[in-house]
This record gives sequence, C-alpha cells and structure tokens, in this order.
Amino acid sequence: MTAVELLAELARGGVAVACDGATLFLRGPRTRLDAALLAECRRRKAELIATATRLPMCCICAASIVERLPASWGGEPCHHACGEVAFGAAKVARRYG
Ligand SMILES: [Zn+2]
Repeated sequence: MTAVELLAELARGGVAVACDGATLFLRGPRTRLDAALLAECRRRKAELIATATRLPMCCICAASIVERLPASWGGEPCHHACGEVAFGAAKVARRYG
C-alpha cells in the first residue's frame, strides 16, 4: 500500500490527516482507527508526513485532501464533506439562498 493509498483509506474511514512539522495529527472516530492501522501510521509516520505535505490542504479543516476532485470554498480547495458543512452553515446564516 502506498502512502497515498493509506491516506485515502484513512479518509474513507473519516480520519483526517494533518501535519505540523514532524508531528502527524490524525482526527476522526477512534473506532475507525484500529490498533493495526494506528501501528502502520506510526511505523510510516515520516512517509505519511512527506506525502501529506505535498497534497493540497483543506481550507476548512486543514487536513490533507486525497480526493481526486476536491471541492472549493471561497476559491480555496476543501474536502467535499467540509464544503457541504460550510455551505450548510452559510445557508443557516442566510449568506446563501
Ligand atoms: Zn476538510
């Protein structure tokens, strides 16, 4: 499994990946991040950070975007799900029809 495939598997499970320097952040439901997957992420941390930093970053949640066709919000790339949430919030705030 390549690093991009591993990042995509995490994303499918609702786990967002972000990095700050040499720190890798995994955010998402703990039930989707079982011990084996977490161990693989720890073992391949440097590779995941190197790959994630090359990918576009979501302007809403700041996690890497592994989707092939990312959405955009305010002209900046975002995850489809993040864009939907932002659109819903803007709609409630009556900024959109
Ligand atoms: Zn996002």
